[in-house]
Formats: sequence, C-alpha cells, structure tokens
Amino acid sequence: MTPVPLLDLGPQNRALAAELRAAFDRVLASNMFILGPEMDAFERDCAAALGCRHALGVSSGTDALLLALMALDVGPGDEVLLPAFTFFATAGSVARLGATPVWCDVDSHTFNLDLADAARKAGPRSKVLMPVHLFGQCMDMPAVLALAKAANLRVVEDAAQSMGARFQGRPSMSFGDLGATSFFPSKNLGGFGDSGLVTTSDDALAERARILRVHGMQPKYHHRLLGANFRMDPLQAALLRVKLPHLPSYNCARAGNAAHYRKRLLGLPGVAENRPGHPADAKVLLPVDFSHEGIWNQFTLRIPGGRRDAFKAFLADRKVGCEVYYPITLDRQECFRGVGRGGDTCATSHRLAEEVVSIPVYPELADAQRDAVADAVAAFAAA
Ligand SMILES: *Cc1c(COP(=O)(O)O)cnc(C)c1O
Repeated sequence: MTPVPLLDLGPQNRALAAELRAAFDRVLASNMFILGPEMDAFERDCAAALGCRHALGVSSGTDALLLALMALDVGPGDEVLLPAFTFFATAGSVARLGATPVWCDVDSHTFNLDLADAARKAGPRSKVLMPVHLFGQCMDMPAVLALAKAANLRVVEDAAQSMGARFQGRPSMSFGDLGATSFFPSKNLGGFGDSGLVTTSDDALAERARILRVHGMQPKYHHRLLGANFRMDPLQAALLRVKLPHLPSYNCARAGNAAHYRKRLLGLPGVAENRPGHPADAKVLLPVDFSHEGIWNQFTLRIPGGRRDAFKAFLADRKVGCEVYYPITLDRQECFRGVGRGGDTCATSHRLAEEVVSIPVYPELADAQRDAVADAVAAFAAA
C-alpha cells in the first residue's frame, strides 16, 4: 500500500535547496536583518505577480488581516461581515481590534461567503466585508464589490488560501481595498516559518499600513498612529523570492491532481459533484472545478449522512492522510460565545462543518499516490 500524507513539503523544497542556500548566504553576508533590499525586491515581485500597486511583507497571514483592518481604522463599534465557515484568524483579527464579527453563512457548493446572507445581515454599523477565498477558490469578486458599493462597505480579501487564484482572469487580492495572504508552510506559496503579505492599490492605505507595520512610527520615534511590529524578516523574503516564480507551476500541478481525481471518480457509483440537486444517495461529493481558476489549496469532499468519521477511518486504514477543515464554525467557538451576531442563521456552515474532509492534493503527489487516494475514495463510495 502506498502511504500518502496529506502534505509533504520535502520534495518541493529539496528541489530548490541550492538556490535557497544561496539566498540564505546572501542575507547572512548582508547583515541586513530588518526590512531592506531583500524585502523591497520580494514585495516588488509580489505586487507585480498579483496585479497590485503595493505589497507589504508582514509577520503572518493573521497579522496581514489585522494590519489591513487597522489600515481601515476598524475598531470598537464597527462590524465586519465574514463567513462563519473559515479559519479562526479571519474573525480573530476582527475581535482583537474590539470590532464585532457578523457571522454570515456560506454557499454549500462553493464553500464561500453567501452574498445574499451578507446583504441581509449588513447594518448601519457594518464597515467591512471580508470574503475568504476558501480552499483556493476565488469568490465572485465583481458581485462582492457590487454589494460593498450598495451597502457602503470596504473590502478586505482573506486570500490566505488563494495566492495565485483568479476570477475572470484577475488575481485574488487585487479586487478589494486590501488583500491579505499567508506564507504558512501549508499554503500555496509555503515559506520557512511564519509570514504573510498585505496588498493594496490605494496609495494612502499602503502608506498607512507601512507606518502601522513599524509601531505607527513616522518619522523615527514619533508615533501618531498606534501600530505594532508586523514586519516580515528579510531572510524569509529572500527564501520566498526563490519560490515565488514557481508558484504558477505549483498551482498548476495541484489543478492537475484535482482534475485527475474528478476524472477518475465522477460517474462511479456513490460519487457525485457537489452541485445543487446532486443525487440524494451520493456517498461522496467532489468539489466543482469553477472555470479552472482555483488553485486548490485543499481538495475538499463532502461526506453526507453522518458517515464522515467512517470515511476518515477508511482512509486511515489505507494510509491516506486527510483532515477536516473546519470541524467547528467560528460562531460556535468558545472564545466567541456572546461575540458577534448572525450565527443562528448559518445553517449551511453548520452542516458543512459536519460533512467536509480534505484529501491530499499537494503539487508533488506521485501518480501512484494519487491513484491510491482515488482508489480509496472510490472503494468507500461503492461500499
Ligand atoms: C492560514 C490562514 C490564515 C492565517 O494565516 P497565518 O499565516 O497562519 O497566520 C488566515 N485566514 C485563512 C483563511 C487561513 O487559511
């Protein structure tokens, strides 16, 4: 039996070992360990790749969200509309600023924010709309921007899982007032520790974010704004700059794996696509490939009918890795008890938390490995 981990960082980084060492040596020799030319170069490359005027390297994806919200002066009394079904940091960043998360439901077939629900829940205190491009699937951003305009909201894109994803040809992170992504090792552009990126094409917001990133300091030792230390390390920037040109090929390999799963599995007994009106007796629902623009940070199945634990055990028996992203919606997290509003009308989010499970889709999966995964899923669906 071919063991298949959910993620294996080894092959990707080993292939670049010589270039990574050279980048490390360059930083070591430079004695520039805070900001400086390595950071400038990486930020320039990122801005160009993402179609944004500005990109700022920061300490993590979480801090990227926090800094984006701080640049918009979000604080107590302000509401931020966001999906209940996402990673913690989407809402953690909001709550840490004393603002109020408004829990919006998601769409059962894209896994992304349900804009009709967000429109219903927007109120006079709502200031920001924060769509999340979950699992690498970019939201319908023209629709997001239309709602934002109608409801007078600013837009921060949580693109932690979507670096390189597009909608109608345009990159995620380039639509909203600001974008935020993460280079956590499991993301599509995986770094060597924690770091993240803020993007914007608004010069004034970029300037504000730049100042907030260094304690709100400008000029030196003068603090007009209350900032913090949100800097990325130049070492991280130098290493990531080696990997950035390869991101399109990594994403392409992920898409190839996703296409392979779909081709192998669709049409088999018990397997259907996760579309409205799918057969009621389907045991495994495969994610839809929306116009080939997603970058498959995760390949996420739905296992309906209370059989997800059985599916996980079935895969474990066959040494196939999987993980549930995410088992508890944010409105139901203990730390958010009594925080925010709207959680009682997030039925789809609550159901997805019980049904989803992600299987290996990382770029370097060997043919035998992805066949082993597909075989296991097919056998479960047929049983
Ligand atoms: C990973 C992730 C973050 C946070 O990024 P970190 O770099 O781990 O702080 C935020 N939002 C989403 C949707 C994520 O997946």
